[in-house]
Amino acid sequence: MPVNLLDFDSERLASFFAEIGEKPFRARQVMRWIHQLGEAEFGRMSDLAKDLRAKLDGCAVVEPPSVMSESTATDGTRKWLLSVGTGNGIETVFIPETDRGTLCVSSQVGCALECAFCSTGRQGFNRNLSVAEIIGQLWWAKKALGHDPRGERVISNVVMMGMGEPLANFDNVVPALRLMLDDNAYGLSRRRVTLSTSGLVPLIDRLRDECPVALAVSLHAPDNALRDRLVPINRTYPLNELLAACVRYLDRAPRDFVTFEYVMLDGINDSPAQARALVDLVKSVPCKFNLIPFNSFPGTQFRTSPRERILAFQAILAEAQLVTTIRKTRGEGIDAACGQLAGQVQDRTKRRLATRIVAAPSP
Ligand code: SAH
Ligand code: SF4
Repeated sequence: MPVNLLDFDSERLASFFAEIGEKPFRARQVMRWIHQLGEAEFGRMSDLAKDLRAKLDGCAVVEPPSVMSESTATDGTRKWLLSVGTGNGIETVFIPETDRGTLCVSSQVGCALECAFCSTGRQGFNRNLSVAEIIGQLWWAKKALGHDPRGERVISNVVMMGMGEPLANFDNVVPALRLMLDDNAYGLSRRRVTLSTSGLVPLIDRLRDECPVALAVSLHAPDNALRDRLVPINRTYPLNELLAACVRYLDRAPRDFVTFEYVMLDGINDSPAQARALVDLVKSVPCKFNLIPFNSFPGTQFRTSPRERILAFQAILAEAQLVTTIRKTRGEGIDAACGQLAGQVQDRTKRRLATRIVAAPSP
């Protein structure tokens, strides 16, 4: 079986090159061909010696997931459905804004964590994505989006906010993050790569130690009783442990705040009293808030909070000096919003197993 070079970060690519008797600078050269120039054919890597190209052809491939479909919304948001085998599909979304372009990347086929308001969670869990399948989303999007005429990066930011819980796939997500940051690959700033987690405390600590990037935490409730219902992983890692992990993370984080995401659910978590409780809860954590209007999906019992309730909630946080943004709805008509990245998830029977893995304490 040939190895897929898209699975390798720079360290692993260098050791693979050593194994086949090649120098480290050759590995860097191939890395630039693959990730900066989007080249998958060794034969077209024109500045490599012919015998090296032939050697690579004999033992390696560059194999991203294949694109099943692509759609573009009127606001320029683009979405790709990528095949990851056996009828499964994952989604990647590009959101253009005036001062940046953000790619929203998936980390798993489905999700095992069953947050009550999330359509990915509703679909169940099939499997973790490989490094190639995670970085392959950026590889495709960069190729499809082409160059900015002013020479600026088209994709300036990446958020791990697509399908799946990225920390539950730590071993593949971290090499993919390293590739995003690597100057011979995508060269993104650590501050512009954000990982969003529902709160797997031991893995937040590991991320801080192994590859700190900007951190977003899905809070969604001001107290344990409600968060236990909305984000069931809270029963394993309750709020005091989660907030302490956020403070520890900030020791080494590229930004000096954590972003708390808070989905606005009508009549559930959106009252002024809950906003005040939230202010009190986070008083020891340098943070910003991002309020996300709930994106509805078929079969859900939740509704999004009315606009004036969201604004009132925001005002209470702002009064307490907490910088609070309200997420804009983007990609309407192509279902490209948070929690709507449905993909295609076959064989969801592995949910139990995955929940056990996720909840296991770190060694
Ligand atoms: N698993 C990670 C990242 C993926 S979800 C996490 O939970 O953080 C990205 C964000 O979308 C999270 O904040 C999640 O809570 C939110 N989300 C999920 N379903 C949603 C929905 N239906 N409407 C609005 N936001 C949703
Ligand atoms: Fe998984 Fe995140 Fe959805 Fe929760 S919100 S089910 S952790 S993808």
